[in-house]
Parts: sequence; structure tokens; C-alpha cells
Amino acid sequence: MASLTDCPECAAKEVQIEMKFDLNTKHFICKKCGLYATREQISDIRDRLNRREKTREDKHDEYRDWWTSSKKEKEKQS
Ligand SMILES: [Zn+2]
Repeated sequence: MASLTDCPECAAKEVQIEMKFDLNTKHFICKKCGLYATREQISDIRDRLNRREKTREDKHDEYRDWWTSSKKEKEKQS
């Protein structure tokens, strides 16, 4: 489970990076990808990435279903 201060951009690449909080600017900073955002922006990014992830998985499932069924077809024919 990712913590609140983990960088969402890096988390999307399956790298867990804890962001540093800059008290002066009230922004979180990622040392790895350089993301610089407020807590609100980070949760926005996280939401967007979660949705994108879900869409990608849906597509992947469709592809896998197609692949599995076409493989079955081939097995039937041979
Ligand atoms: Zn990052």
C-alpha cells in the first residue's frame, strides 16, 4: 500500500519514492522524477493515473480474452 507522500508518477512505474515536503512552498518534491506539486495536485495525479491504469487493464483483459479464444479455435482446428 502506497503512503500518501509516495510520488504518484514514480508509483505508476512501480518505483516507490517518498516525496520530500517543502514547508516554505507547501509543495512535495520527488527526488527521482522531479515532480513538484501540492497535496491536492498529487491526489489529482494519483486519481488520473488510477483511471488510466484501470483502462489499460480492461484493454489487456480484452486482448487476453481474444488471444485465449483464438488459441482455442486453432486447437480445435488441428
Ligand atoms: Zn517521482
